[in-house]
Amino acid sequence: MQSLFVATEEDIRQGRTMDVYFQRSLAVLKALDLEEIRVKAEFSAGSLPSDWPWAVICGTEEVLRLMEGLPVDIYGVPEGTLWRPRSSRGPRIPFLNIEGSYCGFGEMETSILGMLCHSSGVATKAARCKLAAEMGHLMAFGNRRMHPALAPMLDRSAYIGGCDGVASPIGADLIGEEALGTVPHALILMIGDEVKAYQAFHDHSHSAVPRIVLVDTYSDERFGALEACRVIPGLEGIRLDTPGSRRGSFRELIQEVRWEMDMASHQDVSIIATGGLDEDSIRQLSGAGVDSFGVGTSISNAPTVDFSMDLVEKEGEPISKRGKFSGRKYPFRCPRCLLMDVSLDKDDEIHCQCGVAMEMIEVRMMENGRRTSSAESAQEIRNRVLRQLRIIHDIDSNHKI
Ligand SMILES: [Zn+2]
Repeated sequence: MQSLFVATEEDIRQGRTMDVYFQRSLAVLKALDLEEIRVKAEFSAGSLPSDWPWAVICGTEEVLRLMEGLPVDIYGVPEGTLWRPRSSRGPRIPFLNIEGSYCGFGEMETSILGMLCHSSGVATKAARCKLAAEMGHLMAFGNRRMHPALAPMLDRSAYIGGCDGVASPIGADLIGEEALGTVPHALILMIGDEVKAYQAFHDHSHSAVPRIVLVDTYSDERFGALEACRVIPGLEGIRLDTPGSRRGSFRELIQEVRWEMDMASHQDVSIIATGGLDEDSIRQLSGAGVDSFGVGTSISNAPTVDFSMDLVEKEGEPISKRGKFSGRKYPFRCPRCLLMDVSLDKDDEIHCQCGVAMEMIEVRMMENGRRTSSAESAQEIRNRVLRQLRIIHDIDSNHKI
């Protein structure tokens, strides 16, 4: 059997996925005997995709696993931090710093950035969808749009960003949750009759599988929903995946289905909405009676965050290329409104425009290749994200008032 088009973990660790110019640069530095020169490198971004005001930092745990054993010290904001790219005074705010001899970690730049840029984009989009859903239930269903080798990273990032569950067993294993899913159209088409399909799904699925069925394959959503409620005792939910050609007002359709199920005493049967949902459509449907949103492409194909790694100190001297601010910088953040600033002094006293003292939020993560604390669970990181999203949600709600 021929191999698939994926890099193995060994390929990544051995630097075979790096940009070749790093490899060539290291050879030059070694030839000049400059291998031992110590540098400090910071990770930051000049701006965020689509004018996002903040991003959820994600991928740090994977970077630490990649860097374990290399001669580096790593400092950064905790994974799951809602981070802003720039201080109001101009400098970029670093969220990760790596210190050591350049030749000891330089060849990892491509892989480190790839992990952070991609994971943070997905986590940020999930967080934005969570806010659009007024902090309601979200499921990540978008793996089918991306290469399957990425499923664990995509699912973990979506979950950390705020999704409540993921569809793939491998992603669910990584985050320590059960995989979530409903019923595909294919099952109903294969059986050829919706009621028979509901009955068969109920009869032949393990008792732990939630009884959630798809009600729009052949019939009208409202009547399909009532039929599903009738056929499956203890039905937990119905999924509406109404195609665009039939959608009209999806919001009104959902309101009608909710109303009619309530009229028939099925108040406890949930409505799950899926089908091309994004931030805007979730916002439009929020409050219409949807209990859970299944979100696909808009999260899995989220824009990548354009982070870069820049050398800011060499042998204790501040350096930088044109357009960047030199010197080792520390990130500060207001605990009340989550605005950020930066300072060269980690003990600086910075006050937010709201009057509250900002906190220096960087922590030490690795010392000479050894982790300084054990890995956090995906749940802990996700809870950190949710706490911050509630702050943002409250601030946004107050602005609306
Ligand atoms: Zn503040």
